[in-house]
Amino acid sequence: MKSKLLITFPNSTGDKPIVFNLIKHYNLELNIIKASFDFNFQGTLFVEVNGSSEDIAKALEYVESEGVGAEFINSTISVSEELCVECGVCTSACQSQALVLNDEASLLFNNNKCVGCNLCIKVCPSRAITNGVVAHDF
Ligand code: SF4
Ligand code: SF4
Repeated sequence: MKSKLLITFPNSTGDKPIVFNLIKHYNLELNIIKASFDFNFQGTLFVEVNGSSEDIAKALEYVESEGVGAEFINSTISVSEELCVECGVCTSACQSQALVLNDEASLLFNNNKCVGCNLCIKVCPSRAITNGVVAHDF
């Protein structure tokens, strides 16, 4: 199964090989979508995780036992139906084709393809797209 996780590292965990352990000991594939550190050396990692549900559950128990926060992110963006004029500009910016116009020129969003790059948010002339991950200080 694939999931998107927001992992928050307090500065006290900076010397622990937590990401390495997730890959090596819990058989997870991690695709880092975004990473940041603030001036207090707290780290935030937004990753796509691929692994069995059992391994992901065990991995979550492990990170929490190390004092690291982990939160599932269901959607990286949302599109306001009221504001969207279905101009298609965002579909040109979306390299992963998570945003497409269908044959009726209606905008479709596939969250499974979204990598959280935020390019669509920047180009939308109607400011119809908002982001749930930016709210976590990226
Ligand atoms: S760019 Fe904005 S207004 Fe145009 S289709 Fe995309 S979300 Fe809708
Ligand atoms: S955040 Fe990036 S990948 Fe996701 S829909 Fe927008 S442009 Fe596409």
